[in-house]
Amino acid sequence: MRDDAEFSTGTGSMGACDEAIGCDPGTGQSCPPRREFKARGSFVERCDGCRLPVLNCLCPYRVSATSDVRVWLLTHPFEHHKPTNTGRLIADVLPQSEIFTWYRTAPDERLLQQLTDRRYVPFVVFPDDQPDYQHRVVDERAVASAKQDDFIPVFILIDGTWRQARRIFRKSPYLDGLPVLPLHTERLTRYRLRKPASASHLCTAEVAAELLRKTGDVAAAGILDDYFDAFNDSYAASRIYHKLEKPTPAMQRLLERRAFGSQMARVFSPE
Ligand SMILES: [Zn+2]
Repeated sequence: MRDDAEFSTGTGSMGACDEAIGCDPGTGQSCPPRREFKARGSFVERCDGCRLPVLNCLCPYRVSATSDVRVWLLTHPFEHHKPTNTGRLIADVLPQSEIFTWYRTAPDERLLQQLTDRRYVPFVVFPDDQPDYQHRVVDERAVASAKQDDFIPVFILIDGTWRQARRIFRKSPYLDGLPVLPLHTERLTRYRLRKPASASHLCTAEVAAELLRKTGDVAAAGILDDYFDAFNDSYAASRIYHKLEKPTPAMQRLLERRAFGSQMARVFSPE
């Protein structure tokens, strides 16, 4: 979930965007730019793997982690094509994550089916600031007890702007019966690619990292945070056509984990 106050994705005039850094480089779709002039960055060459400008490709820093919980993203269709979307970072780090596209009149069949799977205990991650669903609000203890009872807790994260997220939360009957898990944190956003209305509004990857940390998946949370920071720094640098000369500390940690991970995979190859 995130603010509505986003940068333009390149179809507006320069003036409507962040003046210091120009427009966001395009929509991430491979179709030709709709209007030629404009968004400097529309012609930026993107990596097929990470969809970031090739100038500072994120692929070398991609690291997988494991977690006791699963993450299912319920993603607004507009988000899929935005290169600044952070929900996909979660799926990069936690390969068991699922991404479902939200359509109001056509719920995803696979999601509906998985909601009936008794191995899972799903939680809708959403603020607890409205009175009408207070009876559904739970906290991290509910996640702990699901784990204790050998269920797999699932965080359903709504991936869209705040306005879209509220709509998705309200207009999805299949979410109505699920417990609501709010995230209470002092953390301020480090997201630099869209301008939040408030520093306390975290982007989707940050929400996931905080929840993972609060519910015991500390290693996965750390990796996701590092990957998110690497994404932020890579993307922000590319916007000003700056090539990062050396890995940031977060990138360095990811490289080390990656090297360590491939070592461990050889030692503990499954079965
Ligand atoms: Zn890449």
